[in-house]
Amino acid sequence: NARAGGVGNWSVFDSEMGRVADHRQWVESELHTAFERGDFDLHYQPQLDLPTGRIIGYEALIRWNHPERGMIPPMEFIQIAEETGMINPIGEWVLRKACSDARHLPDDCFVAVNISPVQFMTKDFVGIVRDTMRATGIKPSRLELEVTETAMMQDRDRAAAILKELADMGISVAVDDFGTGYSNLSYLIDFSFGKLKIDRSFVSRIDTDSSSGAVVSTIVGLSRALGVSIIAEGVETESQATLLRAAGCEVVQGYLFGRPAPLKFRLGDEHATDEVRRVANLH
Ligand code: C2E
Ligand code: MG
Ligand code: MG
Ligand code: MG
Repeated sequence: NARAGGVGNWSVFDSEMGRVADHRQWVESELHTAFERGDFDLHYQPQLDLPTGRIIGYEALIRWNHPERGMIPPMEFIQIAEETGMINPIGEWVLRKACSDARHLPDDCFVAVNISPVQFMTKDFVGIVRDTMRATGIKPSRLELEVTETAMMQDRDRAAAILKELADMGISVAVDDFGTGYSNLSYLIDFSFGKLKIDRSFVSRIDTDSSSGAVVSTIVGLSRALGVSIIAEGVETESQATLLRAAGCEVVQGYLFGRPAPLKFRLGDEHATDEVRRVANLH
């Protein structure tokens, strides 16, 4: 609390606010140059099926490698890119790069691409996806899009229509960060999507807090009732993986199984699989 510290703290608070504003302004002005200069890259994090230990797909995660400031995490620039509109060119680039990288990943794996709400609601989003697929030759079954609940709630009718078009094209959509957004579940019935992605906040507490376990079991039950797949994100410990599996969630992603890494490190995943299998074969 800034006030509690007395008058002196207001200036600390002010300069803190100033720093945030400066950083924001810097990001805003730098994003365009960064994009043109080619600062962005994608890292890939494996998603795997616990019973078989098999990698089924990879989530593409954007990285901004600034020549002077080094790695800038998505949390520090995605929202600003959304507010300035830069998310559209950046998002198109991400989609295209991920679809074209897919050819270097095992044939039976898909790539999961995060789609910003702004991008998802852009006028010709489906057209852009279609063009990108044509240009890269990726099969629809190898592409998954991750969209948050909040993105779909902004305009439910439009979102439902977009999801339907994507489903007709054979593209699966995963509801990202599930459980943290909108609590009205009725939309799940109207929306065509293929997967629920249980948010990390439930996973990180599953071994210490029994209500998180209950939430996870409930989401698993919901996914079964809807006939969609389920995955848990942010799995860091073996006990979390064991509890998730006990709750019926057999597909996982997290530091325990592999951190996001550049594509070149994913090319050796044939070797990585043994390691993954060892960790994954949790009774
Ligand atoms: P997200 O889509 O929910 O992605 C998962 C985030 O959790 C990633 O952070 C990932 O590196 C991190 N993570 C994975 N496993 C673990 C774990 O075991 N423990 C912990 N603590 N974290 C884990 P990252 O890469 O910093 O991305 C943050 C968010 O930024 C993403 O959340 C997504 O909302 C957004 N984002 C990332 N890449 C893109 C992109 O290409 N386009 C758009 N629109 N958004 C993106
Ligand atoms: Mg995601
Ligand atoms: Mg997520
Ligand atoms: Mg998340």
